[in-house]
Amino acid sequence: MGQKVIIIGAGVAGPVLGIQLQNAGYHVEIFEGREDAGLEDGAFLGLTPNGLNVLLRFVPETLLRQDCTTGSMRFYNQQGREIAALMTDYQRELYHCETIQLKRHRLNEAARLAASEKKVPVYFGKKCVCVVETEQEVTAWFSDGSSASADLLMGADGTFSAVRNSMFPGAARPVYNKNISTGGYARLPELSTPLDAIRMTFGERGFFAYNVSSKGEIWWFNNYYRAQEPSREEVRTVLKSEIKNELLRIHEQDDPLFSRIIRATDQVIAYPVYDIPKLAQWHTRRVCLVGDAAHATSPHIGQGASLALEDTECLAKCLGNATTPEAAFAAFQRLRQPRVEKIIKSARKVGNAKSKPGRVATWFRDRLIGFFIKAQIKKLHWIYGYRA
Ligand SMILES: Cc1cc2nc3c(=O)[nH]c(=O)nc-3n(C[C@H](O)[C@H](O)[C@H](O)COP(=O)(O)OP(=O)(O)OC[C@H]3O[C@@H](n4cnc5c(N)ncnc54)[C@H](O)[C@@H]3O)c2cc1C
Repeated sequence: MGQKVIIIGAGVAGPVLGIQLQNAGYHVEIFEGREDAGLEDGAFLGLTPNGLNVLLRFVPETLLRQDCTTGSMRFYNQQGREIAALMTDYQRELYHCETIQLKRHRLNEAARLAASEKKVPVYFGKKCVCVVETEQEVTAWFSDGSSASADLLMGADGTFSAVRNSMFPGAARPVYNKNISTGGYARLPELSTPLDAIRMTFGERGFFAYNVSSKGEIWWFNNYYRAQEPSREEVRTVLKSEIKNELLRIHEQDDPLFSRIIRATDQVIAYPVYDIPKLAQWHTRRVCLVGDAAHATSPHIGQGASLALEDTECLAKCLGNATTPEAAFAAFQRLRQPRVEKIIKSARKVGNAKSKPGRVATWFRDRLIGFFIKAQIKKLHWIYGYRA
């Protein structure tokens, strides 16, 4: 029997890492804090070729494409004139797959399904509250009073990682980006055929993006500037209705379709945006952080899930090549940190630039965006072309 590994968190990183470690001969168990039925919430996110290529080793593309939208983008000005397009069909030749958008819970569900097919057990309702490491083993304690011990423990428990808090109490905290990521799902009879690209409009007072999924559902998103960090209670209660009203106000002078979409949305999804620009230490002798737990990024360039997937492949390879787990963890951090920090920085820059453009800037934007988008394909190669 190989070494025993505990993974805390069954988002996307946990199960995909679990499969790779199990394949390498480790005995893996995954512990997820939420109850199975409680995993249904969440927005949708983009998976770009760098992350998608890792996932497709374990999850069939046909399964992902059952409920998705395209990753291509068409940009419009306030008058509804198309000012640029960034289509993703070029990616298939270069990277063998194309960016898609998926509901977060569907992505995580697909990853967990793949893990269970490989007989990697996932235990739900196991909220890790602390981790204790000794010379001989590492133990995770759960809120129900139970515990589990192993040779190694991987913290794949997201931005507010309990593993990180427990192992590195003085570590950098997630930083609120003064932004609420909002969106939702709606159905309108006049907009029920899948679109070839996300429609992104630079409206009078803010931008609005929507697409229609393979199931004929409208998926929309927006960003909402909010200087004050909302409390957990606000996120649960007032934030969603505050945002619905505010978005209707922001878009009252834009295409009336936007307001119809917002009104037709039962549940506006609203997440305060956080990132962790730099975390000094990702590991100890027996414990290592992966995905958002190590390097949460804001969603503005759609890289959080893809980076988490890249991590899993890199960490599994490091463990396969190094003489000790600690050496593998150190190599993993060394290999991954410069890249993830650069992406976190780029995402922040894009997020910060989302203010209302002035008239001159708008004039230039409408004329130059097409050029920048073409240049963008080359500029994005360092992100999309990455292989662990
Ligand atoms: C609104 C929004 C939009 C986003 N858009 C994009 C996008 O377009 N593209 C993109 O690539 N990324 C996007 N992201 C980020 C993306 O969702 C994450 O980067 C990605 O899911 C990271 O995967 P992970 O497995 O590391 O963490 P997570 O998906 O956060 O999974 C962590 C898991 O650990 C569990 N957990 C947490 N605490 C505990 C505990 N104490 N004990 C046990 N289990 C625990 C959680 O329930 C969860 O299941 C977005 C995020 C948000 C919030």
